[in-house]
Amino acid sequence: MQLSTTSPSTDRTYDVIIAGCGPTGAMLAAELRLHDVRVLVLEKETEPTSAVRIVSLHIRSLELMAMRGLLDRILPHGRRRPASAFFAAIPKPAPEGLDPRYAYLLGIPQPVIERLLEEHAIALGAQVRRGCAVAGLTQDDEGVTVELADGEQLRSRYLVGCDGGRSTVRKLLGVGFPGEPARTESLMGEMEVGVPPEELAVTVAKVRKTHQRFWLRPAGVGVYSVLVPAAGVSDRAEPPTLDDFKHQLRAVAGTDFGVHSPRWLSRFGDATRLADRYRVGRVLLAGDAAHIHPPIGGQGLNLGVQDAVNLGWKLAARIRGWAPEALLDTYQAERRPVAEAVLDNTRAQTELLSTEPGAQAVRRLLVELMDFDEVNLRLLEKITAIGIRYDLGAGPDLLGRRLPDIAVKQGNLYGLLHHGRGLLLDRTERLTVGGWSDRVDHLADPSAALDVPGVLLRPDGHVAWVGDDQRDLDEHLSRWFGEPAH
Ligand SMILES: Cc1cc2nc3c(=O)[nH]c(=O)nc-3n(C[C@H](O)[C@H](O)[C@H](O)COP(=O)(O)OP(=O)(O)OC[C@H]3O[C@@H](n4cnc5c(N)ncnc54)[C@H](O)[C@@H]3O)c2cc1C
Repeated sequence: MQLSTTSPSTDRTYDVIIAGCGPTGAMLAAELRLHDVRVLVLEKETEPTSAVRIVSLHIRSLELMAMRGLLDRILPHGRRRPASAFFAAIPKPAPEGLDPRYAYLLGIPQPVIERLLEEHAIALGAQVRRGCAVAGLTQDDEGVTVELADGEQLRSRYLVGCDGGRSTVRKLLGVGFPGEPARTESLMGEMEVGVPPEELAVTVAKVRKTHQRFWLRPAGVGVYSVLVPAAGVSDRAEPPTLDDFKHQLRAVAGTDFGVHSPRWLSRFGDATRLADRYRVGRVLLAGDAAHIHPPIGGQGLNLGVQDAVNLGWKLAARIRGWAPEALLDTYQAERRPVAEAVLDNTRAQTELLSTEPGAQAVRRLLVELMDFDEVNLRLLEKITAIGIRYDLGAGPDLLGRRLPDIAVKQGNLYGLLHHGRGLLLDRTERLTVGGWSDRVDHLADPSAALDVPGVLLRPDGHVAWVGDDQRDLDEHLSRWFGEPAH
């Protein structure tokens, strides 16, 4: 068992224990630490994952990283691709009007983004214990007792299960995880090839006309990313081998392209499931523990990190004692529908990749429709999460949406959000955050690139209020940030 860092807490009682130090757990730990919450992350693996699969970070996640001052640290580790051709791998240029600072997809090895997020959480004071698997839990009115696999017991006020698709926490809670089991499985990996690029390109283009669940494409200098169906590779318990890939390539393409020197090989299914509830008392679920879906469109990690940013400040508010009664329940109310929509778009994309004639006809129709900018943009908004509008009640279209990184007098908006506090952006110069100034910053800036007089931003960057009326603003400050301090 390894102690990665010390935490501000000296006893064995924590405010929040997080099960799982994947991207969701690490991001949540960091968000909680912004508010001085005593956090312990328990991770069952003794070492960080070694499966170097490349994952995509999409626009909203890139924005969130910028909001927390992390983007510059992450960018050198990834490769940028234009923000296009996400939906069912249909190649279309990005629609006009995207902010060029974030209008790309960042491909980055999953272990690297996990390490960066974990380092960020630790630098903020989170404690991470590896080699500790959560095996049991009981909760009462005051808190949660967490039992580790070796019998050790720990106590916290809240527990969050960020322990992946097979979540122990979810199972211990008895929360249902309905959905569809995997219908198809695929092999995916990175390796070198033994044929010239031109010859490879001709064969790949020919095969892709009839096989949508197949690709072989460059993934770095001399390295190719390979996707093939797993049907026929029988032993699911064992990790796939290079021979399995060769066999499947010959079956699909008639040649194994002389593949050799694999970097990593994996197998995954297209099961689609959503937790019935995200919260039972003092225990919550986030990331893959709450939702799983096929990797098409590369959305799972993004969704988990965004869950964490939605939940972090709400849970911290509860612990700091200023949370309005219903605040924590807005986590499920806001994030479960988002996950439902992602599950749906992956279902749709999976159908569009089928080689059945009907599905192919629908695909051709969609290819045509995507020539309309509005259709293209709508699909891009779905995959990149920039189209999310939380249902915060009646109001202008901006209400519930994320505010883009607009220009303000001190530079860019996101530079003001590193500390996870609320922000009143006030073009009228008449408004005030009054007794909420310990939780909400105020920027009076008539030059802010906004077409409304004022907005109240939550710590997750979503718009909680729009207007110019102080009394109305005070009501919304109460709604989101509790009672004023004085
Ligand atoms: C082939 C493939 C490609 C993908 N590509 C993308 C992509 O491009 N973009 C994208 O956004 N997503 C992608 N994903 C999905 C992404 O990998 C997951 O959605 C993401 O890892 C989920 O993060 P998480 O932190 O919620 O869960 P996980 O990454 O599963 O982390 C859970 C952690 O909890 C730990 N744990 C488990 N049980 C316990 C326990 N009892 N106690 C303590 N710790 C425990 C685990 O060891 C693990 O470290 C892809 C997935 C696959 C299979």
